[in-house]
Amino acid sequence: MQLVNDSTCEWLNQLPTRINIKTINKNENCEWLIIGAGYTGLSAARKLGELHPNQRIIIVDAQLAGEGASGRNSGYLVDTTLNDGFTSSKELNKYIKKAEIYNLGIEAVKKFVKEYQVDCDWNESGKYFASSKVEDEIILKNFSETLSKLGFRYNLFYKKELKKKLGTNFYNVALYTKGGVLLHPGKLIRAMIDALPKNVELYENSSLLEWKKNKDVIFCKFKNSNITSKKIIFCTNGFLRSLGIKTNYNFPLTLTASMTRSLSDDEFKSIGEPQEWGVLPVRPMGATIRMTKDRKILIRNTAEFLNPFKMIEAELKKRSIKQYIGIKKRFPHLPNDIIESSWSGVVSRTRNSSQIFDQIDDNIFAAGCYNGSGIGVGTLFGEQIAIKASNEHSSEIEVIESRVKPSLLPPEPLLNIGVKARLIYERFKAASDI
Ligand SMILES: Cc1cc2nc3c(=O)[nH]c(=O)nc-3n(C[C@H](O)[C@H](O)[C@H](O)COP(=O)(O)OP(=O)(O)OC[C@H]3O[C@@H](n4cnc5c(N)ncnc54)[C@H](O)[C@@H]3O)c2cc1C
Repeated sequence: MQLVNDSTCEWLNQLPTRINIKTINKNENCEWLIIGAGYTGLSAARKLGELHPNQRIIIVDAQLAGEGASGRNSGYLVDTTLNDGFTSSKELNKYIKKAEIYNLGIEAVKKFVKEYQVDCDWNESGKYFASSKVEDEIILKNFSETLSKLGFRYNLFYKKELKKKLGTNFYNVALYTKGGVLLHPGKLIRAMIDALPKNVELYENSSLLEWKKNKDVIFCKFKNSNITSKKIIFCTNGFLRSLGIKTNYNFPLTLTASMTRSLSDDEFKSIGEPQEWGVLPVRPMGATIRMTKDRKILIRNTAEFLNPFKMIEAELKKRSIKQYIGIKKRFPHLPNDIIESSWSGVVSRTRNSSQIFDQIDDNIFAAGCYNGSGIGVGTLFGEQIAIKASNEHSSEIEVIESRVKPSLLPPEPLLNIGVKARLIYERFKAASDI
């Protein structure tokens, strides 16, 4: 099936148009083939290019590189998460492992940004886990105990302080954690495309249709031509399943975000001229909402289990209305037409929120499934899967491989029913904060 993104992502539309887009139009042969050019695939390609400067490396994307989830996310590079089921004290060891991986992810992005002098609006502003429900204080206090044990710095804030810091009196309680970065995901991923080493060839608008392994060769079929490769790394995240990778362990979710125009001077003054901030929800289906450095408000408050291949405009409009309501709840006095753009992207989930980092077969590798932490963990996993596929070792691989592994999903139709029922339940639990 042909993968089609919407073309309305504000982060991407702010970037200069790329030229010299190459598609696959003749048969090719290479040592290394990477499928998917988001944070994972581009980081794998960068690392392979360094490790094997004399080998031919090809990276292919079904659309324009970086214009999947990697260029259309909310831009939180996280050091901690609350909503992944690993916060109770008996799960502390799992949480420690997870936080260790997040930290390595931040370090990987930081190193890239420093080395290539990337301007991606990097702001070490920390983030708020916030709720409008007073009773959610208990969830935050429990979470703060976990954070204390791990040595994270945090503060609890209440309505009055939050009004000052965020410019809205919607939230009653929040736990602010000092770690984590807000950034411009489009600028970051564009820099990763620009940083591809010379021996890496990028082909775009070229969808992998079928693949098979024949003895020592991997044969990949595209629309008008084929690529044969000695080794392959699958980095298609939300589309791993559709390519037959770890099908019993991952499934796609469609997330949608909307962004307002920049607030006018008067509008900005009316909310107290807050500094750039990012809020994550206390309950999984609550809204992620962020004030950007250019005074735009970004909101993401939907997650759906849909066909990931086609973004339908009418569906996007419906989601955009939900995001308009989310913004109005928090900033009632802003004008009704303040949302300027809405877009969707596809991510990948596993049952227990653990990531995929695997050798699937001889010479076949895959990395993906990062929940809400793909900026850092995707960059890390991309680099490290390239090292693993090169039969080399690293301390990062040891940490990654000691994580809890993804757990088995139920078969269809139970999966479909189960995921949809869970989403309805979580939406109900988070209703006030959507
Ligand atoms: C709205 C939204 C908000 C998010 N917010 C955050 C956030 O704040 N922080 C965070 O860390 N993460 C966030 N995420 C998740 C994050 O964007 C992803 O985890 C991350 O982009 C995954 O990177 P990736 O390279 O593995 O996958 P992708 O960026 O999805 O790249 C996979 C690529 O594979 C390509 N592909 C698929 N099938 C084929 C095929 N058959 N042939 C060739 N190519 C193919 C796709 O076109 C795509 O470009 C968000 C995601 C969305 C959609």
